[in-house]
Amino acid sequence: MTELVIRGSTVITPQGAVITDVAVDEGRISAVAPQLPGAMREIDARGLTVLPGLIDIHVHFNEPGRTDWEGSATGSHALAAGGGTLFFDMPLNSSPCTVGPEEFDQKRAALERASLTDFGLWGGIIPGNRSALAELAARGVIGFKAFMADSGLPEFPRCDDRTLYEGMREAAKFQLPVAVHAEDDELVSKLSSSAISARRTGIRDFLNSRPVSAEVAAIQRSSQLAAETGVKLHIVHVSSGSGVAAALEARARGVDISIETCPHYLFFTEEDMERIGALSKCAPPLRNANEHAALWDALMHNQVDVVASDHSPAPPEMKRDANFFKVWGGIAGVQSTLAVLLTAGHHDQGLSLQRIAELTATWPARRFGLAHKGSIAVNNDADLVLVDVPASYELQEDKLLQRHRTSPYIGEDFRGVVHHTLLRGRPIFTQGKILAAATGKLVSPHGN
Ligand code: ZN
Repeated sequence: MTELVIRGSTVITPQGAVITDVAVDEGRISAVAPQLPGAMREIDARGLTVLPGLIDIHVHFNEPGRTDWEGSATGSHALAAGGGTLFFDMPLNSSPCTVGPEEFDQKRAALERASLTDFGLWGGIIPGNRSALAELAARGVIGFKAFMADSGLPEFPRCDDRTLYEGMREAAKFQLPVAVHAEDDELVSKLSSSAISARRTGIRDFLNSRPVSAEVAAIQRSSQLAAETGVKLHIVHVSSGSGVAAALEARARGVDISIETCPHYLFFTEEDMERIGALSKCAPPLRNANEHAALWDALMHNQVDVVASDHSPAPPEMKRDANFFKVWGGIAGVQSTLAVLLTAGHHDQGLSLQRIAELTATWPARRFGLAHKGSIAVNNDADLVLVDVPASYELQEDKLLQRHRTSPYIGEDFRGVVHHTLLRGRPIFTQGKILAAATGKLVSPHGN
């Protein structure tokens, strides 16, 4: 007898939306068809929509070593509450950072003990660790992350061009993508230091120190290096329409480049940063209305590949300082990605649910070589989120499951209430509650 049947929901498959049943056996989807026979367990999902569980390819859960900032237990709980079933953890701000095989093993063991959801691990490229990249690839990293500007963390220094170039050549051998934080270091560091030395340290001064042109210049330079090395290039957190345009120009020249943006660049503008303050500080920063509109335009025209949270939490005391340059940069939004896309995308602009599934699950699984993840199809892992799409709610602090309940989204009216999140067929979040203990497994390219 079938283990589980989800009855009568609108199922978002790669082929489109269809009202049907979904059967699950041994953690995998065993059938997608109407009026399936009875099962040991059933979920009456009439009126709900079933999407593939979100794959958040960009989070900083900071474990091991900085679980007072977040940790993979609370981080994965918040992810599951927002409909997510898999995250890719960045090589920082854990301590140690994931820049060598021993560090990889430590993080893997810590996350297997604590994570509710599945996880993948990014390795890091920093000056001096080139010889470790092969071992990281053998361990199963899903790609390598490099900073072109200061990361904010002394133990994860930025890459000079030579380090990045040589790192890309190495990554290309393993056919793994290199993800870059694309902001031009010279422009940003000089503008920042001249503002700080003139005691211009307010929100507007911070915005002025990280112009769109710094993002565009770094995308262009990393694309040039990628073109020569043949590596797959991934631009994390593109903040502006101009940034997307620069990446598309590189793609037109044949660079294998992919474009990620984050919910906060879609939901907020720089005026919101002035209104909200420290909780909305991030780098690159929020952008003006024109760049914001151009970013949306690109997303609506299928020019953005993936939306990831860049969840980057910190203890509340690090988010307070009269000098805005000293405030920790990072938005803690892991629970709100689907909410932003359903509200500002689907409800306000008609972004299709199929596109949302593509941006948050199907594309990431394809790009990172996860064979049985990312879409609702027979024989894939039953990683599913059941959502009441039209239902609305106001996000309150007590709904957040992350360690520090700080988020720029508090008080926002969102569409789309998550009723159930299932990982490999097992409910991990239902009606506001976490149901399982640590059940997460490492996923790696072509390994799951
Ligand atoms: Zn990040």
